[in-house]
Amino acid sequence: MITKKHLLIAALFLGLCTPGAIADEGMWIPVLIEKYNIRLMQENGFKLTAEDIYSINKASMKDAVVLFGGGCTGEFISDRGLIITNHHCGYGSIQNHSTLEHDYLANGFWAASTDEELPNPGLSVTILKYMEDVTDRVLDGVTDDMDSDKREAVINAHTASIAGEAVKGTHYQAAVRPFFLGNQYFLIVNEVFRDVRLVGAPPSAIGKFGGDTDNWVWPRHTGDFSLFRVYADSLNNPAAWSAGNVPYHPAYHFPVSLAGINEGDFTMVFGYPGRTQEYAPSCHIRMLKEVIYPKQVEIRGRKISIMEQAMAGDPLVRIKYSGKSFGLANGWKKWIGEIQSLDNLDGIARKEAFEKEFSAWVAADPERVRKYGMILDRYNEIYDSYVTYYLVNMYTSEVFGSGGAGSVSLAGSFRDLVAMASQHSPDMEKELKRMQGYVAGFFRNYDRSVDKQLFVAVMDLYGKNVAPEWQAPAYRELYMSCKGNFSEAADKLFAKSIFTDEDKVNSLLARFDARKVTRDPFYLLASSAADLIETRVRPEIVSAGRELEELNRIYMAAQMEQGNDRVFYPDANSTLRLTFGRVMGYDSRDAVYHKYYTTLTGVMEKDNPDIYDYDVPDRLKELYRNKDFGRYAFNGDVPVCFIANNHTTGGNSGSPVLNAEGQLIGVNFDRAWEGVASDIMFNPRQSRNISLDIRYALFIIDKFAGAGYLIDEMTLVGEPQQTP
Ligand code: ASP
Repeated sequence: MITKKHLLIAALFLGLCTPGAIADEGMWIPVLIEKYNIRLMQENGFKLTAEDIYSINKASMKDAVVLFGGGCTGEFISDRGLIITNHHCGYGSIQNHSTLEHDYLANGFWAASTDEELPNPGLSVTILKYMEDVTDRVLDGVTDDMDSDKREAVINAHTASIAGEAVKGTHYQAAVRPFFLGNQYFLIVNEVFRDVRLVGAPPSAIGKFGGDTDNWVWPRHTGDFSLFRVYADSLNNPAAWSAGNVPYHPAYHFPVSLAGINEGDFTMVFGYPGRTQEYAPSCHIRMLKEVIYPKQVEIRGRKISIMEQAMAGDPLVRIKYSGKSFGLANGWKKWIGEIQSLDNLDGIARKEAFEKEFSAWVAADPERVRKYGMILDRYNEIYDSYVTYYLVNMYTSEVFGSGGAGSVSLAGSFRDLVAMASQHSPDMEKELKRMQGYVAGFFRNYDRSVDKQLFVAVMDLYGKNVAPEWQAPAYRELYMSCKGNFSEAADKLFAKSIFTDEDKVNSLLARFDARKVTRDPFYLLASSAADLIETRVRPEIVSAGRELEELNRIYMAAQMEQGNDRVFYPDANSTLRLTFGRVMGYDSRDAVYHKYYTTLTGVMEKDNPDIYDYDVPDRLKELYRNKDFGRYAFNGDVPVCFIANNHTTGGNSGSPVLNAEGQLIGVNFDRAWEGVASDIMFNPRQSRNISLDIRYALFIIDKFAGAGYLIDEMTLVGEPQQTP
């Protein structure tokens, strides 16, 4: 068995890395920085200690970094709980508060005092209290020859008791999480705050400047930030929203630097990267690149263009669909980029070459043959059929899920209620109440005509891309009866279904009648698709998934054993990580070099009132014309964004970007197109994270919004950069 010791031996080599080597790839575990990373970081210019980054004995940087909502990062920038994160991370909250009269997406929002800050039910901020390696305890009693069910049972029992013990008598939350694909385990103890209020956001024409056109692309000119504040009770503890709550005092907040950056400067990003797959076998990458991504790109492309056209013609539709379309487009464009950058890297061939080497290494030793000899063959056997299940599952959710045909997905969400009614469940009332809230939220962001177009498009694509034997039976019937003409079918179905009309759905909830639901054409469709997935697809995915989990763990351990002169970092898993590198530009393609920063002049160059994404606000133009830049200027301009070779991914959105002194110089928000396959394969030549220069955020808050009182509560450090 590959034990923790093996992992540590492999990781130890980190400390032996070539002095002066430029760090780039790697998402490091904060609690292990002292042991494995600090030397290299300091050699690269970092001026502080590992204790300054992560400590349980004193306030440290980790106390200032938060998991914002479920999938972003934010950081404290004042001792009064003020948080900065991305505009696209605060987007849902800003959208929820927006109406045609108060369109905060279009016009921005600035609370003039704490009284005006807006609550956001459902939004949470999570702060890591501590983490601890508990591998020995989790794997106690686990043996090599144990079957996977038994192994899982032992591990689950241990993790539950370790987590339970850790939070006993506290208000903390704990979980034990696997790292290195199940070769190492960490206990993670968090404090979760649920009173989080919106403080400020620039208009989308700044916060989302460049829109989906510029997303994933450098050079970039997006002021991608928003401000929130965490509230606590009078003892500084988490509390549900209450008028009496007060701003939270974080143990640490980042000083904000006015000093700017230069090419080559040390920089690090501290945040919550979501998911990477750096150690996956070639058959997995092939499945994604050749089957899954192209299909997803096609269907999302259709949905996005429908939404975009509708949004362009109607501001209310824009408020309703902008969040949804951003979510769809973010994945859509990234997959296009991943396919291209994997092609440029020859990614699959590289993986295959590695597998050849790996096989030779295995074959050279009978013990390795025994432990690892079957891995790659078994992967190939599993993926042979796994790809079909994966595709059907993904496609069904693109079509019938909430990002697809909306009314059908709403109908599907009544399945629980129908089941409860037939069982006369005592929880019926509770569920009806919950559904009332859900339905209100659903229709707030619903437009019947857009939904109808989406319905026609996704039904059509489902028929073309999912083999008939994997199509939902109710869909087959519909297809036969309308002969594939979904436009005509849509007219009838939208008139007939109750799920296209808020009043009808509300009266249904007021006097629930399961028969009315089960006769509804959209319910029949949604239910049929869900049944097919539940009975024929999910069981296969679960059983293949279990075997793959086991194979992944063994393959990871084998790769670490083989590469024991290499430094390993665990795949991202939405836990706090540190990545470090340098501010630097890159060669984009033949004869095209991309400089490391952009400026307000670039915003003006893109200005085009006819294009929604490039319509620069008048006030910003005025500030530019008057060169009214205050202390945020550099070289007669305002710096807007910069790039560095920090290894980041989704979830790192909103992460603090720090200089050698640990001061905030930027807020991470994206990656450059050419290296976007870094979730699968980091490309040192071209993988770059894109950050908002903190001076642009300060300039917008102070000069554009006139909200300098927010800057007063920050700790500003450093002298403004001198023009060279
Ligand atoms: N733009 C990304 C996001 O939306 C961040 C990244 O993947 O680098 O999460």
